[in-house]
Amino acid sequence: MAGARIPRFAFTLALIVVPVFASHAGAQATNQTPGVTITPPVVVVGSPELIRVAAPADATLEGEWLGKKLEFFRGRDGQAWFALAGVDVESPEGASTLRISVRATGATGAIDLSRNVEIHPAHYRTTTLTVAPKFVAPGPEELARIKAESELKAKVFAASAPEPLWSGNFRAPVTAAPTDSFGTRRVFNGALASVHKGMDFRALVGTAVRAGNSGVVVLAAPLYYEGNCVVIDHGLGLYTISMHLSRIDVKEGQRVKTGDEIGLSGATGRVTGPHLHWAVRWQNAYLDPAKLLRMDLSGVR
Ligand SMILES: [Zn+2]
Repeated sequence: MAGARIPRFAFTLALIVVPVFASHAGAQATNQTPGVTITPPVVVVGSPELIRVAAPADATLEGEWLGKKLEFFRGRDGQAWFALAGVDVESPEGASTLRISVRATGATGAIDLSRNVEIHPAHYRTTTLTVAPKFVAPGPEELARIKAESELKAKVFAASAPEPLWSGNFRAPVTAAPTDSFGTRRVFNGALASVHKGMDFRALVGTAVRAGNSGVVVLAAPLYYEGNCVVIDHGLGLYTISMHLSRIDVKEGQRVKTGDEIGLSGATGRVTGPHLHWAVRWQNAYLDPAKLLRMDLSGVR
């Protein structure tokens, strides 16, 4: 059913877009089929998505998806624009509209490249866990600390760099077995339910934790639930978060490169035992880290 729509879409697009861009883009850009590519093409709840838009370097792009503004950057090959986006782990499945418009320099109107994107269910598991009672029913002092920390995190997540700071593929933060734990619905001590918004690695206390990509450390502090926590800003609203560390080896404001050691794994905060919890956040959406690690971004920037 989707297959029947794509050729017509591409054909219509070619008719509309080529004449407009031809005068501005020169010989190089006329070799490509203008349009939008989403990778991976089957979109599921919790999935990061790379959006590629073939448009000239001097075009102006605007986009919006699932209530979030898309921030485009120019790809390394000089042929296309990209946005690294995704669907939150708690986002509903079903139809969505990916809105993209492209305005060529000097053109009076924008070209609408919007398309429908079906979001498929992901079938995450449910597990039960037991943690210390103070993490399920925090007292007044602890609640005040949790509130202050939540405000601190909101500030950190509202101030991402205005350009991408990452480069090439993301790499796993530890040399340890990953678990299939992202998206799991969890029942703590038989009561509190929450969704697991990251990926756990079975890392022993003292295992080196490394930056998954280049960026800037925007938070490096002990937090109530997260334990010793390091947040790296990769720009344009994309962050990786490492939790439960036994030691933090970076400072806020510090620039890191892919593979730089940021601390040692541990068992601080709300844990059932030693492990590294690693989360990927884009704007306010939590995305599956395993899928980000599998993305081929080597030619993107
Ligand atoms: Zn976890």
